[in-house]
Amino acid sequence: MSMEIAARTESLKQRARQLGFDLAGACPAVTPAGVTRLAEWLQHGFAGEMQYIERRRQAYAHPDHVLDGCRSILMLSMNYSVAAEQKESRSAGHGRVARYAGSRDYHDVIREKLNALTDFLRTLAPAAVARGVVDTAPLLEREFAQLAGLGWIGKNTMLLNPRRGSYFFLAALLTDLELAYDEPAATDHCGSCTACLDACPTDAFVGPHVLDSRKCISYLTIELKAPIPRPLRAGVGNWLFGCDVCQEVCPWNRFAPQTVDAAIAPQDHATSLDPCELLRLDDEEFRRRFRETPLWRPRRRGILRNAAIVLGNTRPPHGVAALAIAINDVEPLIRGAAAWALGQYGHDMAQTLLRQRADVEHDAEVREEIEFALAIRSAD
Ligand code: SF4
Ligand code: SF4
Repeated sequence: MSMEIAARTESLKQRARQLGFDLAGACPAVTPAGVTRLAEWLQHGFAGEMQYIERRRQAYAHPDHVLDGCRSILMLSMNYSVAAEQKESRSAGHGRVARYAGSRDYHDVIREKLNALTDFLRTLAPAAVARGVVDTAPLLEREFAQLAGLGWIGKNTMLLNPRRGSYFFLAALLTDLELAYDEPAATDHCGSCTACLDACPTDAFVGPHVLDSRKCISYLTIELKAPIPRPLRAGVGNWLFGCDVCQEVCPWNRFAPQTVDAAIAPQDHATSLDPCELLRLDDEEFRRRFRETPLWRPRRRGILRNAAIVLGNTRPPHGVAALAIAINDVEPLIRGAAAWALGQYGHDMAQTLLRQRADVEHDAEVREEIEFALAIRSAD
């Protein structure tokens, strides 16, 4: 490898660190080993409703499909961990939002930095072709991060770095240039630990490294457009959006450094939300509050469905007033979840609200939810 390639790679990494990326490693653009595992995973149906993965299955086979003529990838990480005391400062009765979603949409923040890094690359090699991606391209980012020496893929399927844990975003800069490649991370430091597999509230791991998304709270609260399957609702607990449990229990996250980037750091007011307040938001108010945040993805109907499930699981006394509004919502998805939640309360007031709605409800699925909710009381 020429001195020029080594110097170019080093300059690029240095610029990446200046821009706020914590880790940077280079790897060749090859067919990742995980492509076969992806095909098997899809075959088992573990992707659930995420048909976009199946549609782009061929594209995952080589980074060429993301950038024509791609030869190298600079893999980057950006930490979003916060101090322990900040994590614990949630208000009682509030629902939880996964940490990664507790700030402005990270895609925007990281894209700006990738654009700046691409501009810098062009100062080094004006004819270079490059593309920065974060999350949305058909690229097995964790596989390439391991290949670029950033860490190993843990049993919880997250990329883990021995000094930085797993609370970080991954991004990639693809280019047609040759770079000086890092050594792949060869050691898996999970050892005999199974903390993540044991702690998952919905038992979503089929085994080490294999996640059935259809049971994962992140999928259920963000991707799934239908009602959350009844047997999984209790496991959702107080998660309104996403879930951090399999990262929270991971010993490698105990000493992970905190982020210093204010644009990425999760904010208390965004990671702990009042489900009752959410159930009172109309379309316009919901848009105003969440349009620029990751919570926009499931839209109002998804978030309010989740809020009702959280109330059914936590049952604060004042939750019934919010559910009384939600059971008459224009969205059947929200009415159905509210009916289930009222059934969990089971007291006279909840039963009255359920019966009143039963008198006017036309949607077959919501009617079934109401009947189920009323039956809980009769079975007591
Ligand atoms: Fe289980 Fe939560 Fe991890 Fe999903 S994110 S696998 S639900 S612990
Ligand atoms: Fe690996 Fe244990 Fe962390 Fe799971 S909790 S990813 S098994 S170290």
